[in-house]
Amino acid sequence: MDEHTDPVPISALQHWAYCPRQCGLIHVEQAFAENIHTERGQAVHQLVDEPGYAMKLGVKVERALPLWSERIGLIGKADVVEFHPDGKVFPVEFKHGRKRRKAHDDLQLAAQAMCLEEMLGRPVPRGAIYHASSRRRREVDITAELRRRVVETVTAIRTMLASGVLPPPANDGRCRECSLKEICEPEAVAATDKLRKARQLLFDAEQ
Ligand code: SF4
Repeated sequence: MDEHTDPVPISALQHWAYCPRQCGLIHVEQAFAENIHTERGQAVHQLVDEPGYAMKLGVKVERALPLWSERIGLIGKADVVEFHPDGKVFPVEFKHGRKRRKAHDDLQLAAQAMCLEEMLGRPVPRGAIYHASSRRRREVDITAELRRRVVETVTAIRTMLASGVLPPPANDGRCRECSLKEICEPEAVAATDKLRKARQLLFDAEQ
């Protein structure tokens, strides 16, 4: 991948928003590991992985729709996009788990909406996260703040890809649910960083 010109995968934004190091492990080091959360996520996505469409009450429901934005430099796929008879375009991202707000899901949805706007030349002011366990939708406004964060996150990911340097570990509650914990070793890396900083302080004090 040419980190300056190649489009950034939309999934990378979600990884970055969850933990920048997770994004680096996946998109710089091509690390991959499954845990119960990724397996559940894959099971949910099997519902919408097959490209195609269905008509429901006059709404065309497209599955696995390819997305891109030349303006922002993004590429990816929408689980579902609804095309309503009144012209409304409405992306829906499928997630496992119960209905609850997760900022990284909202960012991914906003990136999809921005791609659709550029591809179709139509505004996409709202979308939804479909929470498979509770079978409930959570509607999300694609706000100016979310749009700003999409652009900022793409820039941050490009900078990381260009440097090839992994961000430091979060080493907090996020690590409990992360499938890459064994590869990442957040506690060991954080302890090494702490030791390095302590040595640096000692060295500076002796100057
Ligand atoms: S284990 Fe923690 S620090 Fe490492 S990638 Fe996962 S969330 Fe980030």
